[in-house]
Amino acid sequence: MVASFPLCNLIGLVTALGLIAVEVIAIMAVFIDRDGVINRNRPDHVKSWGEFEFLPGVPEAVSRLTRMGHDVFVISNQAVVNRGIVSRETVDEINRRMVEEIERWGGRIAAVLICPHRPEEGCSCRKPMPGLLTEAQRTHNVDLSEAYLIGDFPSDMEAAQRVGCTPILVLTGRGEDAFRSLPAQRQQEYLIAADLQDAIDLIEPRERLKNCAVSLEETAAT
Ligand SMILES: [Mg+2]
Ligand SMILES: [Zn+2]
Repeated sequence: MVASFPLCNLIGLVTALGLIAVEVIAIMAVFIDRDGVINRNRPDHVKSWGEFEFLPGVPEAVSRLTRMGHDVFVISNQAVVNRGIVSRETVDEINRRMVEEIERWGGRIAAVLICPHRPEEGCSCRKPMPGLLTEAQRTHNVDLSEAYLIGDFPSDMEAAQRVGCTPILVLTGRGEDAFRSLPAQRQQEYLIAADLQDAIDLIEPRERLKNCAVSLEETAAT
């Protein structure tokens, strides 16, 4: 009895601290697919930095997300790696230079997460599987239910939906074709944006309303 009391208290305290810590450091994340959203899609794949071309307004858009307080993750299927078309080192080098360029505009990328597997390998990280998202949840304490995923393909949208992220389909890259080929009901499940800038225009008021609701609750509680 004497010994169990402090132990109970200790567990209670640790649990309480854990809850507080989760609340304080849970990350507001925006996941962005790379090809067709950040850079121009190439039917023959981006095989070098010379072939990487930012879509208009993208570095500015990412810096806006950073200023809004979001952690930005780039998530990308790069089966070209395991198909032997582009080496992992080259893909990493392209992504490193992309991040550097975004930083020059004041944006920050928390992490670039890629799946190198071919579809037939049946991995858990190739979108529409949500492995890259759950990896960010694990390594960066992302609250997936509060996160957005911006992509140009149904597999992006599906990955988001599997873990409760809000899916935003942009019409750049393969997005316009993807949108046209979706059944009407599926079209309504996603937010639709012209491009990355436009996607952030959708996120901003939703986040402001959310914060507004939180402070109203706080006011009511006091
Ligand atoms: Mg894409
Ligand atoms: Zn994979």
